[in-house]
Amino acid sequence: MKKARIIKIVSSRYEVLDEMGNRLLCVAMGKLRKSKSPVVGDLVMIEEFENQIGIQKILPRKNELVRPSIANVDQAIIVMSCKNPDFSTVLVDRLIFQVVYAQIHPVLCFTKMDLIEEDDIIHQKIKEYKESGYEVYVSGKGYACDELIQALKGKISVLTGQSGAGKSSLLNRIDPSFHLQTQEISKALGRGKHTTRHCELHEIAGGWVADTPGFSSMDFTNMDALTLAERIPDFQDYLHECRFNDCIHVKEPDCAIRNACEQGSIKKERYEHYVEIVEMIKNADRKSVV
Ligand code: GDP
Ligand code: ZN
Repeated sequence: MKKARIIKIVSSRYEVLDEMGNRLLCVAMGKLRKSKSPVVGDLVMIEEFENQIGIQKILPRKNELVRPSIANVDQAIIVMSCKNPDFSTVLVDRLIFQVVYAQIHPVLCFTKMDLIEEDDIIHQKIKEYKESGYEVYVSGKGYACDELIQALKGKISVLTGQSGAGKSSLLNRIDPSFHLQTQEISKALGRGKHTTRHCELHEIAGGWVADTPGFSSMDFTNMDALTLAERIPDFQDYLHECRFNDCIHVKEPDCAIRNACEQGSIKKERYEHYVEIVEMIKNADRKSVV
């Protein structure tokens, strides 16, 4: 048996990439079909038989997304445009929360930088994300992509962000032969076809990018507030200093997160966006009790 990675699924055929870089077509073996189904991004053990290659085992996943179905994602690239559609830290932060909640590393990429003036407040906002420790890239017409290319190398990435934020343009700038099918996907979504569509990994800049944008739903109601707080990068240094172990950092006394906010070591804006999500979660819980 040898190890391989699933990069494409078409009905019951699985295209995998083995460690030598060969693309092979496989089928799922009987005992596998009874358990969980393999998804794109899965590391699997394959075995060659006389007339086919079979997937015998799925190796443990480090994370998994449902829509699109994909496992072992190394990073999610949150794409936000400076203009058209409008720049929004609310949206960036909500995407960060979703990504880290799924235990995926967030990478921020601000696009259409060519559309704003040098003194635009957006420059300050971007600086604040860097100060909070986020991995940040900027892009625009005429910008070089070297750093982003470096960031994609050897990793499985999912792109996320509003329609029109510049996801396909970004990938095309990195590799002109690449076509992320966002337009086709949004049309398919409109017709309710997304449930049948399979996701595929495409090679780009020495890494792999899913052809379907992730985190399309903005539903936070199934989240657990305590878990969310534990995974927010900005909060990491202060989490275990609150008076209460189960502090969700909203109204509790001696809260280290709120203190850090007052002192400016956590950005107020990010904290406020977190509190909005906690309110959403609480309201949803209240409704489900009634
Ligand atoms: P997607 O829906 O996120 O894939 O967005 P697209 O890549 O299709 O881009 C949406 C629109 O924004 C297109 O009309 C692009 O030409 C434009 N666009 C994308 N990136 C840039 C950029 O860096 N600068 C400018 N000025 N326009 C851009
Ligand atoms: Zn607290």
